[in-house]
Amino acid sequence: RSLIVSVALLLFAIVALLLLTVHVDEIQEPPQYMYGIVLDAGSSHTTVYVYRWLADKQNGTGVVTQYSECKVKGGGISSYAGQQGAAGRSLEACLKQTMVDIPPTRHNLTPVYLGATAGMRLLNISSPEKSMQVLQDVAETIKSFPFKYQGARILSGKEEGAYGWVTVNYLQENFIKYGFAGRWRNADRDTFGALDLGGASTQITFVSNDEIEDSENSMTLRLYGQNYYLYTHSYLCYGQNEVLRRLLAHLLTTQDITGIVHHPCYPSDHSETLNMQQVFESPCVTSQRPALYNTQASVIIQGTGNYQHCLGNITEIFSFQNCPFSQCSFDGVFQPNISGRFMAFSAFFYTRSFLKGSTGIAIRTPGHLRQAAQAVCNLTLVKMSKDFPEQKSYLRDYCAVSVYIQVLMLRGYGFDDHSLPGVYFQKLAGDGDTALGWSLGYMLSISSLIPEETVNVRRALNP
Ligand code: AMP
Repeated sequence: RSLIVSVALLLFAIVALLLLTVHVDEIQEPPQYMYGIVLDAGSSHTTVYVYRWLADKQNGTGVVTQYSECKVKGGGISSYAGQQGAAGRSLEACLKQTMVDIPPTRHNLTPVYLGATAGMRLLNISSPEKSMQVLQDVAETIKSFPFKYQGARILSGKEEGAYGWVTVNYLQENFIKYGFAGRWRNADRDTFGALDLGGASTQITFVSNDEIEDSENSMTLRLYGQNYYLYTHSYLCYGQNEVLRRLLAHLLTTQDITGIVHHPCYPSDHSETLNMQQVFESPCVTSQRPALYNTQASVIIQGTGNYQHCLGNITEIFSFQNCPFSQCSFDGVFQPNISGRFMAFSAFFYTRSFLKGSTGIAIRTPGHLRQAAQAVCNLTLVKMSKDFPEQKSYLRDYCAVSVYIQVLMLRGYGFDDHSLPGVYFQKLAGDGDTALGWSLGYMLSISSLIPEETVNVRRALNP
């Protein structure tokens, strides 16, 4: 009799376990989600983002969140210029991963977008044919997957800035919010500006009440029935990697390259041999390129870890003269006074984290930023490698990038004691772990996930 009871209990346990498993599966993959894919084809690498939202809740803010992320191995798509098929092949592993992430029943309902930024803008300048070929390659690969292909294109700098701003404010629920009455309503909140630092360009975007003197810098967005007048500018060749390259080019053209070239922003215990072509191959250094030089020649670079000299050389990369408007940031670009709070993401975030971790200084004021940059420039590579072994590939450049951010934000954009405390350095935002960048804003804006009119007006129009 006890045997019968044991068998019955065992059967009961198995059935319960099966039911639980089925239930857990349901929780993991609720069938009511919709998905969207954006390939962020940056200059240094591509990231594939999968976003998702509940099918019946698309009109709010903050309801579309990041579901998964896959970093493509190897360089950005522009690095495959001239190698037919290679850029497309580089994306395959991550696209296969998205096939696993997204439930099979949703595959053919899932839109997929590829947006390329400054790396491809530069390739398009130096070789439009190669740039076209790369875009065709990646388009073919994406189309070979069962998703809804929505195009592969190069975003303008203006779009990159504006969509980054949309992402920030969407995730902060600054457009509309869910009220007590169970309805969405205008949030009536000030928006945040967006500061984005990529590998080849940097963007600044914010709402300004001042007159935008150059129409190139103005953009009006109508979202949820409200107009937002944005100031935006994308500085090509002012991304982190291109600035480092321009700094090298500047040092090579102002020092005697037959001897050892001193690099004031490299740690004093670092030296390396550098190939000239590596420095001069980008359109960002065309003006500095010697008329005749041996592409195979190398030079020895010796770090000196000298903050003042580093600051002097980096400042020379900018032009603070000649402004055709009432006021400029630099390079003759109009910029109204900074207004409001800002979110600073991508490489702004990485560098701020390193400054905090290595010097203990949290950047709130311009003084903190100068102090932290100076402290980082005094660190040796040995010390940094001991304390931050996982950051190995970036350690050589933190002094240069910190000083660059200092000049860009304080002298270029004009952040001061009043406005710098309102800059929040973040990588993610929203309830979920959604990355800050242009890609979510891009998908929301060109699909119908952000309406131009208010949700209630839309309901009335489309009952
Ligand atoms: P991304 O936003 O990933 O395209 O990167 C923008 C820039 O940040 C590129 O120049 C990268 O090399 C650089 N970067 C990425 N990760 C780090 C990091 N941990 N520390 C410093 N720079 C980074």
